[in-house]
Amino acid sequence: GVHEAYVRSLVRRAPDWPKKGTAFLDMNPLLADARALKQCIDSLAERYGGGFITHVAGIDARGFTVGCALAYALNCGFIMVRKKGKIPPGPEGSSSILSEDYELEYGKDTLEVASDSFDTARVTSPRVVLVDDLLATGGTATAACNLLRLAGATIVEVAVVMEIMSESLQGRRRLKEEAYIDAHALL
Ligand code: IMP
Repeated sequence: GVHEAYVRSLVRRAPDWPKKGTAFLDMNPLLADARALKQCIDSLAERYGGGFITHVAGIDARGFTVGCALAYALNCGFIMVRKKGKIPPGPEGSSSILSEDYELEYGKDTLEVASDSFDTARVTSPRVVLVDDLLATGGTATAACNLLRLAGATIVEVAVVMEIMSESLQGRRRLKEEAYIDAHALL
């Protein structure tokens, strides 16, 4: 596992950002610290090692950092779950873009996955760990699970660096109720 006090000390709290009254938890100092980054990736690689996982998926953009490092450690492929408008069109007729709207604390956003993300001719049943930096309401992770399933994946678990738990933020529960998926959090 991770040395929790050490890794936690490298999460920075940004008060009143991006809006007054909300605090943003910033893992940039954690990513910048070789020891903390290694502990996080090693801990996740230990949990998901053994060859069952075929791909790691990461949510745009902070999920790409930890997610792709984990994919490398597991010797798996990596899939990007993108914010809308970022996926280039494939060759005519060969692929389409799957998209799902989801609610944010304030407003709405859209995630997208290419329908041919998984080469199902080579990997007939992709088994995926979905990675992001932080779980709050669970809306983002739930939408990402829905998209990855539409693309043909089985989601094994959602793994995050940080999970926020409060009366109003029940991401773990929402993920379980709406996507039938368990969450694993390092912090
Ligand atoms: P949720 O959909 O409410 O669970 O919010 C989680 C998503 O919003 C993740 O993709 C996070 O990257 C992002 N997010 C929300 N709040 C924070 C924060 O305080 N720090 C970092 N990311 C956050």
